[in-house]
Amino acid sequence: MNILVLGSGGREHTFAWKIAQSPLCNELYVAPGNSGTAEVATNVNIGVTDFDAIKTLVLDKQIDLVVVGPEDPLVKGVHDYFLNDNQLKDVPVIGPQKAAAELEGSKEFAKEFMYRHNIPTAGYESFTKDSVEQGFAFLDTLQPPYVLKADGLAAGKGVVILNDLDEAKAELKSMLVDAKFGEASTKVVIEEFLDGIELSCFVLTDGENYKILPTAKDYKRIGEGDTGLNTGGMGAVSPVPFATDEFLNKIEERIVKPTIEGFKKDKLPYVGFVFIGLIKVGDDPKVIEYNVRMGDPETEVVFPRLKNDLVEILQAMGNGTLDTIDIDIDERAATTIMVVSGGYPEAYEKGKEITGIETIEDSIPFHAGAQLKDGKVVTSGGRVIAITSYGGTYKEAIKKSYQSIEKFNFDKMYYRKDIGFDL
Ligand code: ATP
Repeated sequence: MNILVLGSGGREHTFAWKIAQSPLCNELYVAPGNSGTAEVATNVNIGVTDFDAIKTLVLDKQIDLVVVGPEDPLVKGVHDYFLNDNQLKDVPVIGPQKAAAELEGSKEFAKEFMYRHNIPTAGYESFTKDSVEQGFAFLDTLQPPYVLKADGLAAGKGVVILNDLDEAKAELKSMLVDAKFGEASTKVVIEEFLDGIELSCFVLTDGENYKILPTAKDYKRIGEGDTGLNTGGMGAVSPVPFATDEFLNKIEERIVKPTIEGFKKDKLPYVGFVFIGLIKVGDDPKVIEYNVRMGDPETEVVFPRLKNDLVEILQAMGNGTLDTIDIDIDERAATTIMVVSGGYPEAYEKGKEITGIETIEDSIPFHAGAQLKDGKVVTSGGRVIAITSYGGTYKEAIKKSYQSIEKFNFDKMYYRKDIGFDL
């Protein structure tokens, strides 16, 4: 079959790498892709939300299945676009329809969903410009730290956590009244602070059945010891050592099952990946957020541990037969270290030549913000290459990733040297 992957990051390179291993895959296209996807697929320079151009490509290349990497096209309704088009409606799209993608597109929608289905999460209230005063009064009832979240998508920057009450009030006003995050902060969710260690759980569903993939933990902050600004993710580890069988069982019973049942009860059409951001508070899991796609860089450690043929799984998701699939997981640990452009997540330079990646032998370099230019691989984004390695333990895997990083270079490259430090 012919398959199209939408996206251009490390996550999409990992999808393409795994799909290309399947004997079921005939032609593989990635739009727009990067220098890594170009090694295993054909890149097509189309934006992920340019639905008309995607339609032309799907018809032209006789695509049989579309996998959506990032959230943006899902929240904008790419799946619905296919269903509403006579020529596209029979092409399965892996990724939820717009109504279900609101779980990521609106934090208030996600909180209401969790409350409706008794899924453990932080207490909250939401506010608009007209209820700023009530927002101040609600903040007065909380203990610090104060968690303020812009309701809509804000490129991972819309969550602000503050210790000082006056600063929290000023932030609330800035989000609601001064539209700090534009449209995304028309509403703000104020949440109870949860103190614990975070991890992520990934679930596949065909709308009826579900399967759970291995857990992963990512490292969001730019600086060592989890300090400094938030990033898209600086590294990840799978499995998560503190996620015991007992804890995983709690996640499945208290969170995964009611989430999938909730989709059915609320008639939210969901075929795709559910990324559940969790926090372990004491011995109990609570949900921080839902994302309606795989995580990046978590995909770079979860998929390499998946022994199954990914295309078989994607097909089963598309045609409602996920119950026939047994997920087979590599016992080894996998870790990834994200190598980024100096300056990221603030201003950074692009177009730096990356040399020596081809000499890496013990790890898999998944390209993120890297593109081919005049036959050379050059940096094109903040997060550049994710170096994934296997190991008998996560420590062994991390060591291998660091050794592999020594083998390549680009001007001003940076990475955290403490991934896994808290495990
Ligand atoms: P992402 O960039 O992961 O998509 P996001 O912008 O969608 O994030 P959240 O995941 O809801 O926002 O929050 C970002 C981070 O803020 C979380 O990973 C967590 O570290 C912290 N956080 C969010 N909510 C809480 C909470 N209630 N208590 C403690 N920390 C929280």
